Amino acid sequence: MIKKILFFIVFPLISLSQSDDKLFSESGEIYFSFQYESKDQLNELSKIISLDHKTNSHNAFAYANKKEYEEFLKLNINHNIIEKPTLNYKNGDKSSWNYYPSYPEYMNMMTAFADSFPDICKLHYLGTLNSGREILIVQISDNVGVKENEPSFLYTSSMHGDELSGYVLSLRLIDYLLNNYGENNKITYLIDEIDIWINPLANPDGAYYGGNQNVWSAIRYNSNFIDLNRNYPDPEDGPHPDGNPYQQETNIFLGLADTINFNMAANMHSGAEVCNYPWDTWGNLTSDNNWWQYVTEQYADSCQMNSSSGYFNDLNNGITNGWDWYEVDGGRQDYMNYFRYCKEFTLELSNDKTPNPNDLPDLWEANYPSLLNYMEQSLFGLRGTVTDSITGNPLKVRVEISGHDIDSSHVYSNLPIGNYHRYLYQGNYNITFSKVGYHSKTKNVTILNNSTLIENVQLVPVNFVSINDVSSDESKFFIDLIGRKNKKGNLIFKYSDGQIQKFISLKK
Ligand SMILES: [Zn+2]
Repeated sequence: MIKKILFFIVFPLISLSQSDDKLFSESGEIYFSFQYESKDQLNELSKIISLDHKTNSHNAFAYANKKEYEEFLKLNINHNIIEKPTLNYKNGDKSSWNYYPSYPEYMNMMTAFADSFPDICKLHYLGTLNSGREILIVQISDNVGVKENEPSFLYTSSMHGDELSGYVLSLRLIDYLLNNYGENNKITYLIDEIDIWINPLANPDGAYYGGNQNVWSAIRYNSNFIDLNRNYPDPEDGPHPDGNPYQQETNIFLGLADTINFNMAANMHSGAEVCNYPWDTWGNLTSDNNWWQYVTEQYADSCQMNSSSGYFNDLNNGITNGWDWYEVDGGRQDYMNYFRYCKEFTLELSNDKTPNPNDLPDLWEANYPSLLNYMEQSLFGLRGTVTDSITGNPLKVRVEISGHDIDSSHVYSNLPIGNYHRYLYQGNYNITFSKVGYHSKTKNVTILNNSTLIENVQLVPVNFVSINDVSSDESKFFIDLIGRKNKKGNLIFKYSDGQIQKFISLKK
């Protein structure tokens, strides 16, 4: 369907005060386009307004709230305000998935998933917004809710409230996973082996801006007219890169990312058809650029294979480095990669931000094999557990590849399991496991694409001495018998040399 887009040209010398009432009367955000002169100019503008995914090599498309627009007007750039077309789509029916649910229907669907599949699905209420709307996430796994030696994987969609193809695709993915557990080998394997989290709607106030009945009046920003994808701490610009306080939605996700150590993720948007991989904030390439190209090409290829020609081939045949396209500061992708050691990319699902519901089934057919394959990648690469060699207790340690890791590309093993997951393009690497109070250990490993290498590591405490190292003279310093046995059956003693307390073990 061809959308009718209405343009009117704004001459910058007209002051905002004369026209702002009209401009911002419908919602607190406006949409506009302009020609830009250079990449540098575009990068500067990205700090003032919210550049949109429709931006190409000549024309920029952008959103602004009133304050952002006032700043933009000072630059005297000719631009066209684009009136948002009123969507008057006819919804299909829920069972055919050519349908956008109302807000109450969404709530019911999320509740029903957990109620119908209690053994493998849990619904989490992450937080209630001032509007009363909820941020919801489902967790899907065998032994759901019990920490296991599994990667944690996240899909989240529609933090831009009017980019809604991923909203319905996420709901359908949940439904598909749950209904195929025990039926389809691949799905069963993914649910058994991965701790899967899916949040279909990260900005419900934006999506249901026009009311809870439908999404036809959705807006990009949240109810405070803040772009949530500019509201995260930034690797280069630090906290509050957009000058705004963290929004409720942002705080909810910061809390989630702090609680669940996600290993891999994708963040669904629309407005283009491309995988956008890190970084967005600066021109540095990540240390794992070849891994990113490999997994995103895999995503794009399988999308193209499962659709009619012309789908998902934007920019470099369906993939792009974020900064190469246009700079984003305060985006969630960079936050997750830099601060949470999680491999997250931005998934642009469709040129139409809110596609005709009749197009949603084709989008599903094109994307679901890719969505499953990308999820499966979280099982590959180097993984294992790290434990204390004496007590057998799991440890949180730094896992780093010297000469390779830069810009926070190292990872940590996580408690309570001590599991780590390092995703790498095939090659040979020296991996160092380190923690204060322990002797570091370096392992040489050879990684193959699409396969898993397991290295379980025991770190020896620096103050550990074997009983063989202790002379009988020293033994008089034993002051305390803890009498504990570790997993290997060693007894653990503690003694004092006047200054330092040491742990020793006796082999029985
Ligand atoms: Zn977006």
